[in-house]
Amino acid sequence: MRAWEQYFRQVEPYTPGEQPKDTGVIKLNTNENPYPPAPAVEKAMQNMDFSKFRLYPDPKAEALVEAIAAYYQLSKDQVFVGVGSDDVIGMSFLTFFNSDKPILFPDITYSFYDVWADLFKIPYERPVLDQTFQICLEDYKKENGGVIFPNPNAPTGEAVDLEFIKKVLDYNQDVVVIIDEAYVDFGAKSAVELINQYENLLVVQTFSKSRAMAGMRIGYAMGDKRLIQALNDVKYSYNSYTMNMPAIELGVKAIEDKEYFREITEKIIDIREYSKEEFKKLGFVFGDSMANFIFVTHKEYQAEELFEYLKSKKIYVRHFKQPRIQNYLRVTIGTKEQMDALFAALKNYQRA
Ligand SMILES: *Cc1c(COP(=O)(O)O)cnc(C)c1O
Repeated sequence: MRAWEQYFRQVEPYTPGEQPKDTGVIKLNTNENPYPPAPAVEKAMQNMDFSKFRLYPDPKAEALVEAIAAYYQLSKDQVFVGVGSDDVIGMSFLTFFNSDKPILFPDITYSFYDVWADLFKIPYERPVLDQTFQICLEDYKKENGGVIFPNPNAPTGEAVDLEFIKKVLDYNQDVVVIIDEAYVDFGAKSAVELINQYENLLVVQTFSKSRAMAGMRIGYAMGDKRLIQALNDVKYSYNSYTMNMPAIELGVKAIEDKEYFREITEKIIDIREYSKEEFKKLGFVFGDSMANFIFVTHKEYQAEELFEYLKSKKIYVRHFKQPRIQNYLRVTIGTKEQMDALFAALKNYQRA
């Protein structure tokens, strides 16, 4: 080790799901949307004035902020945008979680939360989900420096209702409570309607899943204007131009097309419910996912072996080598054809 290496920041990075180069694989491992973005996005892309790449983008990303505000009937000063919700949530940790008391998030949840907490040296505690992977309200009734959880939760897919979220907020009025709604469009109820009632609530969403734009990197937060102002102050202290010009312009087109959004979201929900039936027939056990994935386990087969078997058949799903969930697989909902290919492969595994 060189002397200067001792001054490096020590981090244990987040491991994203694999992005295989082989385009022939059935990719059910990162919760991407199996359908393309809205048609207006493609058109805008083709007509984009590429000479504008010479210029810096609008640091306020105003067109996109306005389009999101209009969609949710909010004012511009209640919306913050960033490079995917990872950027928005990371920025939120930096902005809001500066207490000496630990922040709280579940033991089984999005595995980026503990990475950001470690990166920013934020103390944290991870209350344990119950046997059926439900969040226990009582665990969030203790002194803390902030609260964050996804709704529906990842990778379990389990959702809570707004009454639950209100109780968390009622108890935690002196800290910022962040609800990560990456998957909310697939059947859970959004807490965005509570932001005028609870000034300490920040709701984070993304274009990566339900709007089929993971590659564009667009995320956003909605909340009281003081929260949004604080996020912007931190953003402008770090990088003024987080959003690039194509992301701003194409994001506007994506959010404007409500009809296409409804259509693909409904299709995914239908295929999810169909997939639950098929998984059940094959002997899998799982909770009632409200997301675009199902978190399954099998009474007889080892998840890791299944994972390797499916990979050998060019079907990628996600396996987490983590306590309590090592015998589970998180399977993204793909097209009907992709899911049928998965079920056919699983049937063959049964026979072998
Ligand atoms: C996918 C995901 C995100 C981040 O998505 P971005 O692509 O960065 O917008 C955030 N939280 C959860 C729970 C997710 O699953």
